[in-house]
Amino acid sequence: MSFKINCICNICESIPENTQISFAIGYVENLEPEVKMKCSNGHVFTALLQVPKFAFMFENGLTAFNKGFYIEAFSCFYSAIELFRIDFSSAYFHSYENKSVNELKKHFKSIKISERIYGIYKLALGLYSGDSEDKEFTTIKIKGNKNKNITELRNLVVHAGHIPSKNEVEQVGYSIYKYIIKIYQTFNIKEHDADDPFPWPAIMQYYFDSIVEYCQENILDYQDISQNKDSRYTIIASDTYTGLKLNTVLEISNLPTFKDLLEINKGHNINKDVTEKIVNKEIAI
Ligand SMILES: [Zn+2]
Repeated sequence: MSFKINCICNICESIPENTQISFAIGYVENLEPEVKMKCSNGHVFTALLQVPKFAFMFENGLTAFNKGFYIEAFSCFYSAIELFRIDFSSAYFHSYENKSVNELKKHFKSIKISERIYGIYKLALGLYSGDSEDKEFTTIKIKGNKNKNITELRNLVVHAGHIPSKNEVEQVGYSIYKYIIKIYQTFNIKEHDADDPFPWPAIMQYYFDSIVEYCQENILDYQDISQNKDSRYTIIASDTYTGLKLNTVLEISNLPTFKDLLEINKGHNINKDVTEKIVNKEIAI
């Protein structure tokens, strides 16, 4: 699976006499931070992703739901929670045990079975919050023909050919959204001061550090890239591409509804048909 993304072409933009905005397209295909982008004028540059993969996966679920592909939406929402477990665990060991991003990526690569990843997650979650049983997740109930918990429903879909109803998919998507956001917004870096009213999400820091480590490894200047001084690279931030608002402080007791998320998704540009063709827009003067 890949996610199609677009952004304004760095190189076209750096030509002063250019009166057109050119868009470049790229495909997010793996867990590496870099994505090759290409614009309609043939310019090629690299986008560095500061966007957690679970956020892309969840957003893709919303796109599928908006299009009426409910089974795909279901599987994306469920994959989002599995990717979130990797990010939470990595961010925990990065912030609380001082492990480098590269070290963590290397070790996580060799762990492919989701049950094992879940075990590591429950350890990290237990160390952080005391909930090593992950009760917040396992007790999520999905209302339907028979009331099931979220894992039972997932097993029916994956192993017994159960086709989830639109309503079940919506409940699964929204429960996963609330679960992820609540943990994301309250899981702060080790140095975070309890008196500080604003969160400092450990996963946000982990993704930021992953780009800094990438730059160090490739002898690139992070400052130059983040200030748009190196046209070979651009940094892609989370909130521009997904509706989870991972770079924003959210009020947990007043989160957007599922309907709100579907509306926000329509304005984002992951996997949208319009980006099939590379478009140029005249700059309105
Ligand atoms: Zn260009």
